[in-house]
Amino acid sequence: MGKNRHGESFVKTACRTIGGLLRTERTIKASCMACKRAHPFTPDQLQAMLDAHGPDYRLCGRRYRCSSCQGWMRLHYQEGGMWWPLWDDADVLRWSDKDRRS
Ligand SMILES: [Zn+2]
Repeated sequence: MGKNRHGESFVKTACRTIGGLLRTERTIKASCMACKRAHPFTPDQLQAMLDAHGPDYRLCGRRYRCSSCQGWMRLHYQEGGMWWPLWDDADVLRWSDKDRRS
């Protein structure tokens, strides 16, 4: 998961930062790995993130606590009518390492 058959990360460079996402007019959503609750980000929320953190703010590999079950919500971006993971294998390793230590 997270890589295509050539071993490259699925996450396109343009989708890694908030500036890139807005520039290419992509939408993102967060969805909970545990309870499957999904939370779409509105254009206003993305704009607010851009204003607060600047265009180079990295969204790839970011996760949020689910407000329903306290599980982890991961980000996805939309492309070609499908949702793609906004993380790669390095992020998964980092997360599991973090979770083991907490
Ligand atoms: Zn949840």
